[in-house]
Amino acid sequence: MILLTKHFDFEMAHALMGYPGKCRNIHGHSYKMEVTVTGEMQPDTGMVMDFKALKDLVNETIVNRLDHALVLSDQVDPTLIETLRAHYDKIVLFPFQPSTENMLAHFATLLRPQLPSNVRLYSIRLHETDTSFAEWREE
Ligand SMILES: [Zn+2]
Repeated sequence: MILLTKHFDFEMAHALMGYPGKCRNIHGHSYKMEVTVTGEMQPDTGMVMDFKALKDLVNETIVNRLDHALVLSDQVDPTLIETLRAHYDKIVLFPFQPSTENMLAHFATLLRPQLPSNVRLYSIRLHETDTSFAEWREE
């Protein structure tokens, strides 16, 4: 089995609504993400998937949308969202708490249907800090 991994970096702010600790405040992370795919080798190219195609797909689907964005749950007070949108142009609302775990599951749902037919998503690893990461894997 061959696994292909592409690494991504993005800066993102979030706040965990209702969380009892420091993360209830707006703060940012330098996220590091590794997306790993596997699949059947294509004899004509000698590749499972072109690294550039994987890079473009993940950038368009995830990284470009979230880099330098403020990400909040859509359950946050709408007047606050309105105020933020009046001053900042990159506010992203998710229908869930923007925790690392929830974002991973969301990213997997977005990426899986877009992969070529010979390729499947194997894992996504998302580092929130140098010492903390979560990983999604196909069960
Ligand atoms: Zn955080």
